[in-house]
Amino acid sequence: MAGVIRRLDETVVNRIAAGEVIQRPANAVKEMIENCLDAKSTNIQVTVKDGGLKLLQIQDNGTGIRREDMDIVCERFTTSKLQTFEDLSAIATYGFRGEALASVSHVAHVTITTKTADAKCAHRASYSDGKLKGPPKPCAGNQGTQILVEDLFYNVSTRRKALKSPSDEYSRIVEVVSRYAIHNSGKSFSVKKQGETVADLRTLPNASVVDNIRGVFGNAVSRELIEVGCEDQKLAYKMKGYVSNANYSVKKCILVLFINHRLVESSALKKAIETVYAAYLPKNSHPFLYLSLEIAPQNVDVNVHPTKHEVHFLHEDSVIESVQKHVESKLLGSNSSRTYFTQTLLPGLSVSGGGEAKSPSGAEPGDRVYAHQMVRTDCRAQKLDAFLRPKETPPPDPDAAGPSGGEAARTGGAEMDEADDADMLVALAEQEAEGPKGNQGDAQRKRPRKEEQPEEEVHEDLTAAATPKRRVIKLTSIKELRAEVTENTHKGLQEMLQNHSFVGCVDPQWTLIQHHTKLYLLNTTRLSQELFYQILIYDFGNFGVLRLSTPAPLYDLAMLALDSEESGWTEEDGPKEGLAQYIVDFLKKKTEMLEDYFSIEIDQDGNLTGLPLLLDAYTPIMEGLPMLILRMATEVNWDNERDCFRDLSKECSMFYSIRKRYVLEAEQDADGNSWRWKVEHVIVKALRSLLSPPKSFSEDGTVLQIANLPDLYKVFERC
Ligand code: ADP
Ligand code: MG
Repeated sequence: MAGVIRRLDETVVNRIAAGEVIQRPANAVKEMIENCLDAKSTNIQVTVKDGGLKLLQIQDNGTGIRREDMDIVCERFTTSKLQTFEDLSAIATYGFRGEALASVSHVAHVTITTKTADAKCAHRASYSDGKLKGPPKPCAGNQGTQILVEDLFYNVSTRRKALKSPSDEYSRIVEVVSRYAIHNSGKSFSVKKQGETVADLRTLPNASVVDNIRGVFGNAVSRELIEVGCEDQKLAYKMKGYVSNANYSVKKCILVLFINHRLVESSALKKAIETVYAAYLPKNSHPFLYLSLEIAPQNVDVNVHPTKHEVHFLHEDSVIESVQKHVESKLLGSNSSRTYFTQTLLPGLSVSGGGEAKSPSGAEPGDRVYAHQMVRTDCRAQKLDAFLRPKETPPPDPDAAGPSGGEAARTGGAEMDEADDADMLVALAEQEAEGPKGNQGDAQRKRPRKEEQPEEEVHEDLTAAATPKRRVIKLTSIKELRAEVTENTHKGLQEMLQNHSFVGCVDPQWTLIQHHTKLYLLNTTRLSQELFYQILIYDFGNFGVLRLSTPAPLYDLAMLALDSEESGWTEEDGPKEGLAQYIVDFLKKKTEMLEDYFSIEIDQDGNLTGLPLLLDAYTPIMEGLPMLILRMATEVNWDNERDCFRDLSKECSMFYSIRKRYVLEAEQDADGNSWRWKVEHVIVKALRSLLSPPKSFSEDGTVLQIANLPDLYKVFERC
């Protein structure tokens, strides 16, 4: 709806400071954009020639100007937005002086083409010195207004001479429009030079504020933004916006500030915000901020000269302090959490695996490595406690069988019974020294696996002479599953895992490692599960056995699982006893295969007696065993060979993985090793040599980069 334009009362006229409104093309553009927005436009296109000195054209799709108002629209103090002085304090629109168009028409040739929604056609009129040059002429046109400003300052030679550089004026215009574009997401803006087809700035109607910041200020800053927003009833203000975090800085502070939707400047606010950042950013670097403040209109001095962008408002100091505090709190909060939760894509590790080409320093070959970039990254550096643990190699009981005591172990069941409690925990790892599934894992697993390596080749290894012959698996299904792992390997990630230094365990689920100058957080649960899955697939049919000290009845295990919440059992599933019996009968039919390929041993009475030995000195946490039994019967596709082997391996690997939920209950495991020790000396060690990490791990948060040393230096430089 086009507002009715009235002549302002004399008293109002006198109280409003008038002056030279338009000082340069960018001022005119700003005034005209505000008019477009006042007229509810959603699409604003700016075309410029010679930095706006030759031509400035602003096209919008707003309400348009009524035919009868076209006569006076360029006269001074005509406005559709204000009638009395009191209105000034409650003004919600940008324009209020009725001065902008008038001023422009005094220093340029102005042509307005406009159409309201209910007008039959558009009208065009030209103005000079605030006056209509001739009656508006009907013409074709869409709803909205086009204001054409030609030969700006044609009659003010001093001003024209002062503005020597059209390209400088042009960039000021682009700057003004892009800031309004950021503030008015949901509306589309464009700026281009006349005759060019490509716009220098273009925002889309469905773009977010951050999208627009990215479009204007680039990707680097848009990635490091924190959303801010606060409100204070007493001070009668609201603030929202985006500010850069401590990871980002620019040479000069960028503060895109809107107060009541008008682009303004406030050096007091800028100074206050800069003090906050000074504590977080390196010397001589500054933040980016986009802030939108809404202040009770009666508190803002709107009657400021249009060319003076600096604003002042009531309770200015208190409002600034309140905004400052809020920004600081957000900045602090982001420091500890941001990187963890937003960064799931690993920087610096390309999926194709650029990692291999790099020299050990992490620099490209030929790149100079500066002293400050050198850190301890030798992955062979071991911590002493690796040697201090007597229990690294099982068994804990000197009487029990060692790796060479296969015979003794097999007959030693009774002794083991008394050696341990009745909790069906594992007594030790028995390594069968002969037979088809002799454990040759030691010699094999210490070397990185090569997919194409024939399994017999192991014997060429120096240490392999004493190890039993490895059984060759010719099953197509297993070959396919192995190929799947190899093809899906992330080479860069693999290189990183092979050459990292262990830093520490955060908790059972998260481990910190260092690679070159970067610190990474590893999801131990996911990595260990994948590790065990790959061991199950690669060493398929070749595992040693972890013999249970007390055979565990499958029926009891199934009942335990059904009793647990995790199983999701409901009345509708039928009585638990029947289900448990079904599971026992079902698994008993599979014993031969389970034992042959997976070293999962079940005796004739339906007791579980053995589990595969997947890594030396590693026993899974038995709390997860009931669920394994339940899931083996319910979650595995037994009808298809490949699916069956894959599913069984997945289920087993889940059981063997380090899982927070189980680990906390059993802080010290049956073999006396704490989970911390196992993660550091067994799991992480095996990740180095055995894991082919899948590509997804670089994207799904399994591996997160949380710090980069050169960046840390920047922080500490300040201390
Ligand atoms: P003010 O914006 O302070 O009212 P201006 O000189 O900027 O004064 O504009 C004068 C009047 O012209 C406005 O009040 C408005 O009614 C009309 N006007 C200017 N530009 C547009 C536009 N793009 N769309 C619709 N009406 C406009
Ligand atoms: Mg205006």
